[in-house]
Amino acid sequence: MPNNPWQRALVQLQRTLELTDAHPDLQKRLKEPDRVVEVDVPLTMDSGETKTFRGYRVQHNNIRGPYKGGLRFHPQVDLDEAKALAFWMTMKNALVGVPFGGGKGGIEVDPKELSAGELERLTRNFARELSHVIGPEKDVPAPDVGSNAQMMHWIADEYSKHVGAHSPSVVTGKPVEHGGSEGRTEATGYGGGYVLEAMLTKLGKERAKSVAIQGFGNVGVFLAEYLAGHGFTIIGLSDSKGGIHMPEGIDIKAVEKYKKRQGNLAGFGGTDISSEDVLELPADIIVPAALENSITEKNAPSIKASIVLELANGPTTLEADAILREKGIIVIPDILANAGGVVVSYFEWEQNRNGEKWAKDAVLAKLKEMMESAAERVFAESVSKKISLRDAAYNVALKALAM
Ligand code: NAD
Repeated sequence: MPNNPWQRALVQLQRTLELTDAHPDLQKRLKEPDRVVEVDVPLTMDSGETKTFRGYRVQHNNIRGPYKGGLRFHPQVDLDEAKALAFWMTMKNALVGVPFGGGKGGIEVDPKELSAGELERLTRNFARELSHVIGPEKDVPAPDVGSNAQMMHWIADEYSKHVGAHSPSVVTGKPVEHGGSEGRTEATGYGGGYVLEAMLTKLGKERAKSVAIQGFGNVGVFLAEYLAGHGFTIIGLSDSKGGIHMPEGIDIKAVEKYKKRQGNLAGFGGTDISSEDVLELPADIIVPAALENSITEKNAPSIKASIVLELANGPTTLEADAILREKGIIVIPDILANAGGVVVSYFEWEQNRNGEKWAKDAVLAKLKEMMESAAERVFAESVSKKISLRDAAYNVALKALAM
């Protein structure tokens, strides 16, 4: 089976369709995105030279509400990846019960190679190219790998100029001072923490306390902070440049400061390891929180953890998933584990539309409630049907789409 994420998404969908009795019309709609938009985004570089970058927006399905999903700025962005990510958003949003469909997009670019001015111009140009297909009731982008709150503000600003009206709710994940929600930055990482704690209790695995995390960006940092503050020990961390192993536990605040100063994790303390080795450390729980396909048939046999918490989208290939199942390793699937971001995006959208500002404690309390309730539904489905948590999550999502 190829590791093309879209082919993988279709295999997972087929599996779910075989386990459920979804209407043929729904089956057909889920197998292809509703719309694919491809654009060439021009950018005048600081040097005066003009370059173009390929951009995409995939609108997978809007049965439950406006398309919703991130915009990725990364050199490996491609259409099949965006289609898979958009499909996963459709399922995730249905699973956690937010009134959105699924969308995703991005630009093939390495944002680290652009100056601040170039990044702003590229983001604004991309927003102009997409302005006819996005909108608060149509399609609501958000940050993803390589994009951030500031970039969402630029998109909202361009879109507002395009429609001639202040329209902050066209995107979520904005800075708080520009209509963003308190708690949005923390949401995916904290949400993963809430799901993990709930699942460990249900599984009777409360003693699983040591954790290794691959990816120390928006998601990985806040998960690490949350878990370190709730009785877990983070024994390994990695980012794209390498990682560290400290069996006695890593001081998360100190390592964050170190990474800000040095630009990498290596040399902080303990033993330096590779970006990939972190997933093979002797931890109870491993967390892929970087990109797709990080757990494959090559490294799955060497995984020592008993639990995988998928915070990245699509981190486990189909072959690896089968190996983990055979080894009795429990996988808490991405569409459940990383849904915290879109839940708080929904809160942000609601606040913008109603002119409200919710306090951070209130946002996080509501997030916790929604994540625990989704975890409960997935666990109950898995027990009653005797299926994996992943199959159960897809079943629950499909039922919500069929309603
Ligand atoms: P980010 O760009 O902030 O961070 C990505 C991190 O991964 C960086 O630390 C980078 O160095 C690291 N990385 C990249 N390649 C790596 C490798 N080979 N080995 C180890 N580390 C590597 O992105 P993010 O927002 O933290 O997103 C991470 C994952 O979570 C993505 O799969 C994304 O789709 C998913 N996700 C993000 C959100 C969100 O709210 N940001 C929500 C749901 C899912």
